[in-house]
Amino acid sequence: MSNRSETLFAEANEHLVGGVNSAVRAFRAVGGTPVFIQRGEGAWVEDVDGKRYVDYVLSYGPLAIGHAHPAVVAAIAETAASGTSFGAPTEKETALAQLVKSLMPSIERIRMVNSGTEACMSAVRLARGYTGRDRVIKFRGNYHGHVDALLVEAGSGVLTLGIPGSPGVPAAVTETTLTAPFNDLDGVAALFAEYSNDIAAVLVEPVAGNMNCVPARQDFLEGLRKLCDEHGALLVFDEVMSGFRASLGGAQAHYNVMPDLTCLGKVIGGGLPVGALGGRAEIMDYLAPTGPVYQAGTLSGNPLAMASGIATLTELAKPGVHAAAAAWTERLLAGLKARADAAGVPLLTHQAGTMFGVFFTDAPSIERFEQVEQCNAERFVKFFHGMLAEGVYLAPSAFEAGFVSTAHDEAALAHTLDAAERVFASLTV
Ligand SMILES: *Cc1c(COP(=O)(O)O)cnc(C)c1O
Repeated sequence: MSNRSETLFAEANEHLVGGVNSAVRAFRAVGGTPVFIQRGEGAWVEDVDGKRYVDYVLSYGPLAIGHAHPAVVAAIAETAASGTSFGAPTEKETALAQLVKSLMPSIERIRMVNSGTEACMSAVRLARGYTGRDRVIKFRGNYHGHVDALLVEAGSGVLTLGIPGSPGVPAAVTETTLTAPFNDLDGVAALFAEYSNDIAAVLVEPVAGNMNCVPARQDFLEGLRKLCDEHGALLVFDEVMSGFRASLGGAQAHYNVMPDLTCLGKVIGGGLPVGALGGRAEIMDYLAPTGPVYQAGTLSGNPLAMASGIATLTELAKPGVHAAAAAWTERLLAGLKARADAAGVPLLTHQAGTMFGVFFTDAPSIERFEQVEQCNAERFVKFFHGMLAEGVYLAPSAFEAGFVSTAHDEAALAHTLDAAERVFASLTV
């Protein structure tokens, strides 16, 4: 492990809570010292000791075209030279909205915000305001940012840290949050039967990416659409992670199931802080200033963030670009699976476009959170540290998805698979 990272982490702990600004980065689930990164280029990151890693974290999803893509760097630099924020409309906000609409079939109107959390928070408020109802349904192991009302049986850092919900969230705030198992339509139907006229929305990650990577079943999403229509509730897809990844048009295009509202984040900002809420115009126009539901943001639609998002999505939307990255992801998983098999390590893999998950289990399939919890956690920790030592950077938690960018090439694939072969072999001794 890098000496300089240890020194820097000790110093960071004096000044930052736990030495980090987002909990999962602290390596608590895997032990050891987080690696301090000094630069990234394409598919690779370099730590403060100059060691290089193939990066499958990609800032937890945003970097769909890799680190420091020349088009993104140029767009940010050019924009910054003309001023960084105005608190007035700029053309770039409309341009990014048009680009998103051209890719995501269900979106007619957009509100830009600054994070995925903000998008989900606003989605809940808008759904409640629009329907005049209070209750929302979410799924066990799905994560919608650190929104008070949605920090119930949430995934990601909340799972990694083993915090059931969180202190500081009053019971009164989560009283109206109903939960059901992911991929279990009967569970949702039972909640609708009991609370039919009081359910404002169903929030779902159509490809769950905060309980490892677990795609929804087709019939589950179709069933949610039908139940929402029957009961006058809104269907909200949280595509903060799956957006522009599960397919170019997100999970909604992949499954051909249209939500009423879509939460976006991560890729839409290409590495700068952006989130967005989009959906049917009739519902979106319920937001201020056209509607009564209040929502605002000093830096929302920030020019640098818009420029980064436009450059990223423009590159990603070029013919064949997303498909090539998805095909690369498929080869990665096939290669990992073959090497795990050869080493006698039971492994299950999931793919949704450029998102993936690997599970240390001999279960034939994984569809729910409880099944993710039953995977071999000890083996994941060994795999994680083994790969890190070999120069492959994976998320430090078995509950995170992995990500591929358009910059992942033959060299990155060979490096990863050679590393995996050695690490898998070490797991069974
Ligand atoms: C990351 C994530 C969020 C939260 O986004 P932030 O930008 O971290 O606030 C919400 N929903 C999903 C599905 C996510 O993956």
